[in-house]
Amino acid sequence: MRLIFLGPPGSGKGTQAKIIASKIGANHISTGDILREAVAAGTDLGKKAKKYMNAGELVPDEILLGLVREVLSNDRTADSFILDGFPRTIPQAEGLDKIFENLSIKLDWSIKLDVPDDAIIDRLTARYFCVNCKADYNLKTKPPKKEGICDICGGKLIRRDDDKREVIENRLSVYHKQTEPIESYYRERGLLKEIPADKGFDEVTEEIVKAIS
Ligand code: AMP
Repeated sequence: MRLIFLGPPGSGKGTQAKIIASKIGANHISTGDILREAVAAGTDLGKKAKKYMNAGELVPDEILLGLVREVLSNDRTADSFILDGFPRTIPQAEGLDKIFENLSIKLDWSIKLDVPDDAIIDRLTARYFCVNCKADYNLKTKPPKKEGICDICGGKLIRRDDDKREVIENRLSVYHKQTEPIESYYRERGLLKEIPADKGFDEVTEEIVKAIS
């Protein structure tokens, strides 16, 4: 199955994408994770991306398209995947269609997770991840059993650099201006499934499973 997950920052798309990918045996491709790893490793890609990410801005389209083309060119990845956080602009969606055409890939669905802005600010200011195994937590929707400690590996829970309030507000405004228009792009092609996601985490997972079954 080949899926795209869309939704504002904090809609839970990354965490849901990971869970659904493991349920259906698909590769989880998060452009945000790939870029954060590149920043942490200090690679050329990381050096180029860092200033945009820390300001809550989008990294230029040509950088992202090159990266996704490279990842999808791996046969085994192209068989079954969830793209999480990509595309985020109309040029990226158009570029992705060309990549799909060249690699003879057919997209099954774009899944859009709907959460209102005020709920997003609340969620993002409560978001943590494990410094060690990268598992996601949210003090409101998915708290760890022991404060500040990862349930899975006992690692320390920390926050993302771009989850500061002023950066969150910019990320949301960038989302509405640049990313929201791609919903219509997929709706017009009959490829959009919208899931109300301002509710319990497990309930949202069930709705996504139903939508793609
Ligand atoms: P995410 O983890 O998906 O919220 O992404 C974190 C940051 O990485 C974003 O705020 C952007 O700066 C950058 N990024 C991730 N994916 C993309 C993309 N498709 N296009 C441009 N920038 C991206």
